[in-house]
This record gives sequence, structure tokens and C-alpha cells, in this order.
Amino acid sequence: MTYGSQLLFIVSEGFSRFGFHNLLLICHFYRQNFLIQISMDPQSAIAQVKRAGLFRTQGLIGGKWMDAYDGKTFEVYNPATGEVLANVACMGKKEANDAIASAHAAFTSWSKLTTAERSKLMRKWYDLLIAHQTELGQLITLEQGKPVAEGYNEVLIGASCLEFFLEEVKHCYGDIIPQTQADRRMFVLKQPVGVVGAITPWNLPLAMALRKVSPAMACGCTVVIKPSELTPLSALAVAELALQAGIPPGVFNMVMGFAPEIGDAFLASPKVRAITFTGSTAVGKMLLAGAAQTVKKTSMELGGNAPSMIFDDADLEVTVKGLMIVKFFNCGQTCISPNRILVQEGIHDKFAAALTKAVQTLRVGHGFDEGVTQGPLINQAALHKIEALVEDAVSQGAKVLVGGKRHSLGLTFYEPTVLVDVTSDMLISSTEIFGPVLALQRFKTEEEAIHLANDSNAGLAGYIYTENLRRCWRVAEAIEFGIVGVNDGLIPAASAPFGGFKQSGLGREGSKYGLDDFLEIKYLCLGNMV
Ligand code: NAP
Repeated sequence: MTYGSQLLFIVSEGFSRFGFHNLLLICHFYRQNFLIQISMDPQSAIAQVKRAGLFRTQGLIGGKWMDAYDGKTFEVYNPATGEVLANVACMGKKEANDAIASAHAAFTSWSKLTTAERSKLMRKWYDLLIAHQTELGQLITLEQGKPVAEGYNEVLIGASCLEFFLEEVKHCYGDIIPQTQADRRMFVLKQPVGVVGAITPWNLPLAMALRKVSPAMACGCTVVIKPSELTPLSALAVAELALQAGIPPGVFNMVMGFAPEIGDAFLASPKVRAITFTGSTAVGKMLLAGAAQTVKKTSMELGGNAPSMIFDDADLEVTVKGLMIVKFFNCGQTCISPNRILVQEGIHDKFAAALTKAVQTLRVGHGFDEGVTQGPLINQAALHKIEALVEDAVSQGAKVLVGGKRHSLGLTFYEPTVLVDVTSDMLISSTEIFGPVLALQRFKTEEEAIHLANDSNAGLAGYIYTENLRRCWRVAEAIEFGIVGVNDGLIPAASAPFGGFKQSGLGREGSKYGLDDFLEIKYLCLGNMV
């Protein structure tokens, strides 16, 4: 079976195997070589989503669907066809402030529910997400472009976060501190921080939204979420299902439109006690600076520049497989996508040849077409950025083994690409590519590989391929990354901490640590107790 066909997985199996909590689900499906035949036209997908009542275009404030107060809308496009999918309410400061006020009003009653009561409502929400996996997956493909099999799995990824946190919060204990005086009793209580402002990107529009709101709401926080204007529809569908699940009005609010206005409203409001953001490092830095005004908690999931370090003693098949899965997931448009492929001299040529062969089996096309493994890039800006990076690399001596140009399908489709002879001073080595380009750079020694890997302001994900156990430990400990995969590709999981070192972010999403950003720690001291 080719890598192309391995990148398709069977969705009906996903339902029955749904106990999985994590992204590894995707790897699992790849490895099991499940295969689905997909072919559908976008119009029938839209009709199906509409029939299910999940095609929402207004914001959600205090449990009510609302237009922008001035009636403005913005267009959402299908990146695979360039067609307008919807006109969505274009909101700004006023609507954001009203959403914050609703979230603030709902906080007292939501935070007073027991964790079991909150979890019960969130479990209903989870069940509805699963029941609507098909429509939600199709909606993701319509607005984001990824192959629909990936869309279906994104629903599982998002739902797995919800399921993880509605359970995990039941184990969120405080502490008893040994008293410092005989008549004192000393405790640590954990309490929800309050209203959370969440801002999410377009690359995994449904999963990123759920990854943020799940821990926050499970803790007892209320949220106002702003999805990207490029892909608001799947997050709006999630909001519709929250209402259907009986999540009380005001607990989950959604506004979208003028990003800086909405962001500024979050930052300026003393009612918003935490900002959680996933997106570019540049915007993250602005939000961090702005959050200082009212001294908010901040959690930042920012850009990456992931190295994949391939040593002479790596297993060639395992390496190519691991790299293909994580690189071409979502057309390379993820923060953990390998950006710098560092390859030791002895294995370099053999590896480059095997990788090129694997890349040639990928099939580029519209996400609803049968057998497609790679969709379009999100927009023209992304296409131009990748063209410029490849052009710069080639002008400085890099060679194209496969791809290297726009795809004949036009629009924003780009050919899966392998470059060799890349060097550290090329732009492609210091820039997050966010596209289907593998840039191979040679190294001689382990020390050199570690130096090259750490030579970046980013520190999100790093990958190591080696069969040498000692080397695996040495290198894993030496590299400055928050997520390290050894002989494996798509490693995130709802139960594992996700986040970066250095300028890739602050805080962790997922895992037991993922609750911390939404909790205040209160020291309670009772005196005169005996
Ligand atoms: P982006 O341009 O930073 O946008 C992210 C979000 O921020 C969008 O909702 C955007 O709104 C909003 N935004 C933009 N300017 C803003 C402002 N001045 N105030 C408030 N909000 C503002 O990033 P992107 O291009 O969508 O996403 C790609 C980036 O996200 C990459 O760097 C990637 O590595 C990173 N990412 C990181 C992780 C992680 O977990 N570390 C995960 C996924 C993606 P509009 O779209 O409406 O303008």
C-alpha cells in the first residue's frame, strides 16, 4: 500500500473505536492501513450540514444567536474552489464586550455547579459532537480544505479533548499543608479563574476551539471564544451543539470579525481573567503585552520550527513513515510539522531517495475527491510565502528532488516538495514553512545536529530518529523543545502536555497540566482551631 492510500482512514471504524482520547488515533489508523473511498461534491456536503442545523453564521452571545450590531458580514471561502461558502456576522468591540458581560454574569452559577454536574452537561455535548461527526468533518473540509477523512478525524481529536477534561477535572484536588502553628489549619484550594478569552487559528478550527474551552469550562470558567475569520463555521457548529447539550446561556459565547477590536476588548476588560491563544508568535507577543494592562493569566500556543533529526543508525522505513504522517497531515499546516529535516551524512542519499518515492505517492486535490491525501493551502498569502521560501532556497543552491512549484490544479494548491542541500542561512530554515515542503539539511556529528536543532527561537516540537537507545536519551535531553518524538510522527494526545519552550509559548494544553491555566490557587489558613 502506498503512503498516499495510507493517509486515508476508515471513518466508520473511528466511531466504533471511539474510546481513543487522542491524536494518536490518526497514526493508529494509518498504521492499520484502513482505507476509505471518499467522493462527494461540496454542494451536497453543505446541504447535509444545513439539514443538521449546523450551518451557523451569527455570533453567540448569552445563549442567543446574534447578527453584528451594524449588520456587517464577512465572506468565508472554500479554499479548494474559491467559492463563497457563507456570509458571517462581522463583530467587533461592542459585541465582544456584551459577550464578556454575559460570560461574567454566567460565571457565578456555572462555577458553583459540582464538577459532576458540569461534566454531565459536557458529556452530552461530547455525545452530540460524535453523533454529528460526519457533518462537522465535512464542514471543516469545506472551510479549511483538508481531505475529508482528516476532517472527520479532527472531530475525534476535538471531542477527545472534551472527554479528557470532563473526566480529568474530577481529579483536580487541592492540598493540606502541615500547620506551622498548633492551632492553625492550612489548605490549598483550586478555584476557576473566571471569564476566559480564547482566540483560535484556522488550521484545526474545530479541534483548537475544543482544546481551549474544554479545560476552561470543566474547571468552572466561562468563555468567550474568537475563531479565525478564515474558518469560523466549524467552531460555530460546535457552539450550536453546546446549546443543544444544555450548556447554560452565557457559559460559552462566540464572536468573530474584527480580530484586533475583539482582542483589544478581551485585553482591556478587567472581567476577562485569562487569555488563551493559539496562533502566530507575532500576534501572541502583542497579546502578552496587552494582557499586562489588567494582569491576566495567559497561555500561548505559538509558532514552531520543528527539527527532525535523522541519524545514520535510524530505521529507514520507520523514519520515512513517521515523517510522512506528521509532515503531510493538514498539508503541512500545523505548528508541529517538521520544518528542518536534519539528516546525517551516511544515511542522507538513501533517505532522500526513499522520501522522494513516498512523496510521489501523495495525491493532491479537493478534499471531497476520492483518494486525495493533500488539499489546498489556506489562502494566497500562504501560497506566496511558500513560493518565496522555495525560490530563496533554490537561488542559494538547494535542489528540488520533487515538486517545488504550484500544482496544476491552480488556486492555492502546491506540489508536495522535497528539497536537498538546504543550509541554515536560507530563509526556509528560520521560517515556519506551514506547507508541504520537506527541506533536507546535512549534518556530520550528533553535537552538530543538537546545535542546529537548538539554533532557533522556537521550541515546540522536535523529532529524533535513531535505533541507539543512549543517543535517544542524550539527544532528547539536550534539545530545547516542549514535545519530543522518538521514532514516531504524530505524537500529541489529549492526555499528554502540549506546549513549547522559548518563543513557542507559555503553558501547556492537554493533560493534567492543562487545567492549571484556568485555575487560581488559594491558600486558606484557619487560625485558632484548637
Ligand atoms: P494568527 O494570524 O496569529 O491568527 C490566530 C488568531 O489570532 C486568529 O483567530 C486571528 O484572527 C487572531 N488575531 C490576529 N490578529 C489579532 C489581533 N491583533 N488581536 C487578536 N486576535 C488576533 O495565526 P494563524 O495564521 O491563524 O495560525 C497559524 C499560526 O498558528 C502558526 O504560526 C502556527 O504555528 C500557530 N499554531 C500554533 C499552535 C500551537 O499549539 N503552538 C497550534 C496551531 C497553530 P483572524 O484570523 O480573524 O484575523
